Amino acid sequence: MQAQLECYTSDTVLADTTFVNLKDYSKEFVYDMKYATEDNFLKAKVYDCAECLLRLKTVQALVSANEDFMKDGYKIKLFDCYRPLSIQKKMWEIVSNAEYVADPKKGSIHNRGGAVDISLVDATGKELDMGTPFDFFGIQASHNYTKLSKKVLSNRKYLKKVMVRNGFNSFDSEWWHYNLKTGLKDAVSNQKWNCE
Ligand SMILES: [Zn+2]
Repeated sequence: MQAQLECYTSDTVLADTTFVNLKDYSKEFVYDMKYATEDNFLKAKVYDCAECLLRLKTVQALVSANEDFMKDGYKIKLFDCYRPLSIQKKMWEIVSNAEYVADPKKGSIHNRGGAVDISLVDATGKELDMGTPFDFFGIQASHNYTKLSKKVLSNRKYLKKVMVRNGFNSFDSEWWHYNLKTGLKDAVSNQKWNCE
């Protein structure tokens, strides 16, 4: 009996809520992890390395979305993925406005491993024009703001259409932010990167 049990346990598949590294599942993403640099609104490098950690189900949905974009000649560029709760607190100290930064008391979906901040790049690696930079805290970053060029509006609409089709919700005040629909209730997490 004991031998049989061991056999079952050594065969365990990963739960879809397990935190994994995106690069172990696909090499087709472009990385611009802003919080692993000083080029962000905190003006500080708050991540030890530029890795994209997410829950397995978020990775699966994101890889599927990226495959859709690649059929059209685009790829997802990542600005942020999982974010430790301790960093959320630092962000909230600087921008205490729930339209742009989630209150750490409630926790962001980023803290739950179910959110990504993204844009798209074309075949030459050039970012599509989305009207504002990432982490632009103003009305122009909103999906509801329409005083933008036709090109910008269609780029945002295209990003949203493919992400929603792959199981993500958009966030009204930030064109770059997407939440996995099934990731809203997962626990917040405060873990460190495994930087090798
Ligand atoms: Zn976000």
